[in-house]
Amino acid sequence: MSDIKTGTGSGKIHKSESEWRNELTPVQYAVLREKATERPFSGEYDHSFAPGTYVCAGCGQTLFASDAKFDSGCGWPAFSAPASDAAIAEEHDTSHGMVRTEVLCARCDGHLGHVFDDGPGPTGLRYCINSAALKHRP
Ligand code: FE
Repeated sequence: MSDIKTGTGSGKIHKSESEWRNELTPVQYAVLREKATERPFSGEYDHSFAPGTYVCAGCGQTLFASDAKFDSGCGWPAFSAPASDAAIAEEHDTSHGMVRTEVLCARCDGHLGHVFDDGPGPTGLRYCINSAALKHRP
């Protein structure tokens, strides 16, 4: 597995769960705050390759650049690298009978998805990210 990143972000954001519930859509809340996974091939950005950046749907921090996005065929947006190592944090995740590396926004601790070491290109990484955790900015 990849080295665990412990990004500190810039200015941590702490909000109560009721604040998050008011600000986020039900799907965004389920993914970012409850670590839900959207159904494969259902997300807004699964097959979108428009240029720009992807920011956190919770706090607006820049997380991924469109240059790093690739079509993995797995049903979720996939990136070969984050926009910066400081933008994300990683945690060991042993839920659902699997050993995975969870990817979180380093600024608001929102759940984004998981990173796997079966990606293409120089990093060999595949950041498998829920569309609901992202907002595209052209
Ligand atoms: Fe965030």
